[in-house]
Amino acid sequence: MDPVRQQAIVIGGVNYSDSSRVVWMLTPDYGRQSFLVKGARRQKSKYLGSLETFNLVRVSYRRRERSSLYTLGEVDVENHFGGIRRSLDAFWAASQATELIKLISHEEQEGAALFELLSGFLSLTDRKSGDRAFLASLLAAFRWRLTSLIGLEPQLVECVRCEKKLTRAEKYRFLLIRGGVCCAECGGSPEPADLAEEHAGLVSYEALRFIYRSIRRFPADPEDLPQLSGSLLGEIEELARRYLAYHLDEKPREGKILPRTAPTGSLNWKPGNDN
Ligand SMILES: [Zn+2]
Repeated sequence: MDPVRQQAIVIGGVNYSDSSRVVWMLTPDYGRQSFLVKGARRQKSKYLGSLETFNLVRVSYRRRERSSLYTLGEVDVENHFGGIRRSLDAFWAASQATELIKLISHEEQEGAALFELLSGFLSLTDRKSGDRAFLASLLAAFRWRLTSLIGLEPQLVECVRCEKKLTRAEKYRFLLIRGGVCCAECGGSPEPADLAEEHAGLVSYEALRFIYRSIRRFPADPEDLPQLSGSLLGEIEELARRYLAYHLDEKPREGKILPRTAPTGSLNWKPGNDN
């Protein structure tokens, strides 16, 4: 096959033998790719410094039909994201995002949307690496945007039980098992199976609004990201953690509550509005 030349983000790696390394990268065209890099750990390696996690690179390599462990050709670093490496907060946020991508990305599967999300995240994290509050909100937005890209988008506009449009309330009951929120009527008549403690929780209107925005669009600019108070952020992150843990144990479901493509429309969401 002809050599492939494309952008990639280094998402991790593991040492292999005394001098080599296996390196994982996320690419737009082929999803996660694994490379055996011989001599990568030697001081004189031509790859020294270019295969660090988070690096945005341009790689060339030959794809083969019978193998998914490729031999790396040329690597040019396009962005080393120095800001991320100088700030503990930024480094932590970037690690969280990259770990999640490593978990959910597939080999040999087109991954342009994931690539765009991760590169956007890393570049904003790099730019705002000293702003801890911003980074925390950005990571929350990243996690929720990711749910929609992998077919796990929660249902937040209509009740997951009766399908009626939600009306404005202070809190909504979120049913992990059904992948979204239910109306006060449905939430008030518990079914033991899906209102069990580990499956449900109450979520504030403000938290749902942030999640809804994040699902539809990842911020392109720092100004696009609503700043969250500590308690609101905690609520959103806790829900993301439980939601992802719950659903990543299963295969993404088909059907209305978990559409495969992101919806389009206004970001000024209110339950009960048509947009
Ligand atoms: Zn309902």
